[in-house]
Amino acid sequence: MALVKSPDDRWAWVEIDLGAVKNNVRALKKCLGRGVKLMCAVKADAYGHGAVACAKAMHQAGADQFAVATVAEGVELRKAGIEWPILMLNECPDAAIDTLIEYDIMPSIYNFNFGLAYGERAAEAGKVGSYHLAIDSGMTRIGVLPVDVVEFRHGLDFHRGLSCAGTFTHFATADEVDGWDFQLQANRFVEAVTAIHDAGMETGLVHCDNTPGMILHPRAQFDMCRAGIGLYGLHPADSTRGLISLSPVMSVRGRVTRVVWPPVGAGVSYGMQYRVPKQGVQIATVPIGYADGLARSLSDNMDVIVNGVRARQAGRICMDQFMVAIEPDGPRGYRAARPAEIGDVVTIMGRDGNEEITADEIAGLRNTINYEVTCNFGMRLEKVYV
Ligand SMILES: *Cc1c(COP(=O)(O)O)cnc(C)c1O
Repeated sequence: MALVKSPDDRWAWVEIDLGAVKNNVRALKKCLGRGVKLMCAVKADAYGHGAVACAKAMHQAGADQFAVATVAEGVELRKAGIEWPILMLNECPDAAIDTLIEYDIMPSIYNFNFGLAYGERAAEAGKVGSYHLAIDSGMTRIGVLPVDVVEFRHGLDFHRGLSCAGTFTHFATADEVDGWDFQLQANRFVEAVTAIHDAGMETGLVHCDNTPGMILHPRAQFDMCRAGIGLYGLHPADSTRGLISLSPVMSVRGRVTRVVWPPVGAGVSYGMQYRVPKQGVQIATVPIGYADGLARSLSDNMDVIVNGVRARQAGRICMDQFMVAIEPDGPRGYRAARPAEIGDVVTIMGRDGNEEITADEIAGLRNTINYEVTCNFGMRLEKVYV
């Protein structure tokens, strides 16, 4: 493959295309109605893509706000100079409230005692703590139940240390094109928002659509949408394919560290589950393993791309390394591969020449979703931004 940037200290890395991030932000913004704001979910280190660099690129392309899952994720963004609103999509232990206030990270509030404690601590610091009210419209995860919403707000609103900057819910089935469950959640949410207004209180920004929601259910965009997976160039489900053009952001690559032509019958990796089936099979080693997010369940069941050609991964995937079998006659209809050399680039996910291995291909083999695939690859591999 063409000249690629790789880290100095390890022949394994994740390549992050920040231009693709910006293209995806622009593509998603085209789905938004006039004046609708875009909140970008950069939780879990931006789904494994690197939160700080991604957030900066997203803001350059027009993102308004950011969403994280933990206090530490919010603090990391602030320390890196991200100065736009940050919402934490849940609560945290009371002991972390002072950190939220210090770094101006808005919590989602749905437990009364947490809300009160947040207000108290903010007032003591001489500040007003902004928060978003979470409503459970049917997913049964977090949020105040619609029947309790007005009373909940009445109970908090007297507090001079609190200010409601937003009201939101999360859909469990936004990827279904016309599902009853979606409609029911949307109706309950609208009723709850209306009840708050009718009781004479502010809701702040009203938001509920995630990536599939903003594409498939534009009527539920309200004041803001919370995009996640689409920012990273991946589709949340088959239902959004063809409706928006997204570019994958993450590639996973390594370099061959060793090559050998073992005799027929030689075992490869723990358990020797794979045995060299014939003469002329080259076994190449790549220093990426399950501790890097390459799930062990993929062992002996996935392809990689070596020099533009697909090759079979062989034997069990280890914690930090795996092996590839390069068969000269091209197995399973693949083109014949030329032997690999030490230092050759191996693509685990991404494009090399005319071949591409997508997060969806890997997710299918692992029986999971593309979200988990990129989060996992983000765990230990160094990120190289291109
Ligand atoms: C992660 C998350 C999102 C983004 O979801 P995508 O499906 O990745 O677009 C939006 N809202 C909440 C509450 C989330 O937890």
